[in-house]
Amino acid sequence: MDKRSIKSALRRIYKGLRDNVTEIPSEGISVPVFEEPLIGFAAADDPFWEKYRAIEAIGPEWMSPREWMEGAKTVISIFYPFSEEIRSRARVCPDETCEAWNLGLEAANGYLVKEIQTALADELRAAGTEVVMPSYDPRMKVVNIPVVSGGRDDLHYIPAWSERHAAFIAGLGTFGIHRHLISEKGCAGRYGSLIVDLRLRPDPRGYTDLYGYCVHCGACIKRCPVNAISDEYLRNLKLCSGRSGYIRQTYGSGSCGKCLTGIPCEHGIPAKKH
Ligand code: SF4
Ligand code: SF4
Repeated sequence: MDKRSIKSALRRIYKGLRDNVTEIPSEGISVPVFEEPLIGFAAADDPFWEKYRAIEAIGPEWMSPREWMEGAKTVISIFYPFSEEIRSRARVCPDETCEAWNLGLEAANGYLVKEIQTALADELRAAGTEVVMPSYDPRMKVVNIPVVSGGRDDLHYIPAWSERHAAFIAGLGTFGIHRHLISEKGCAGRYGSLIVDLRLRPDPRGYTDLYGYCVHCGACIKRCPVNAISDEYLRNLKLCSGRSGYIRQTYGSGSCGKCLTGIPCEHGIPAKKH
């Protein structure tokens, strides 16, 4: 398969989904979960990958594409943006946790991303391509280490693979101070990737700065109910995960995610610089 056929396969898979919907019980309606995804391609031997091994970036437990698959040639990165129906409800939700957001997230993490990626992997394999999906691979793990940032207790996550960092190399976007990845369809969504032994032309990166698309407007800082985000120290992961823990304990399930909507990078690259 070439890039064009992979892109059209993804589009066909997306359009053929029967379960890209979630019911919102309080409104008695169903809404779509994802908009059409974005796709980007990175070379498995791009020198940028090795920067992630440093503890200042991700850390030593992170594995390069070639460690995931000996013959890796390309990393295919995909961004799945949440639909306007999900985002608009989260944007104006006055509650601590938003029903539509949580249901969208449950569908995305529970089956949708895996279903789309497995279908794409099946097509690639049928065409003779070897595929590894790190997030669904038994070697995937995350190590958390306690750190202090800006005088506050924090956590540093060291995953064996980071979808957002892969998307950065594949030209899909840059980080914001909220630590989410800002793509041309914003940051409110999920990322996934496939490592393949197929050489495909990498997409250019329209940026060099890891935070190039963030305009430092501070909107995500204001959205956070526990003051977890700062311009200098980014998102404090201990405070953030503590908030999610509080929500699960209080409501039985759900999450926060306030810093992903109601901000200029929710569904696009903020206009100030780009
Ligand atoms: S809301 Fe503003 S400060 Fe926060 S990540 Fe987006 S662009 Fe950056
Ligand atoms: S998810 Fe919630 S608690 Fe975590 S940084 Fe975003 S707004 Fe703050």
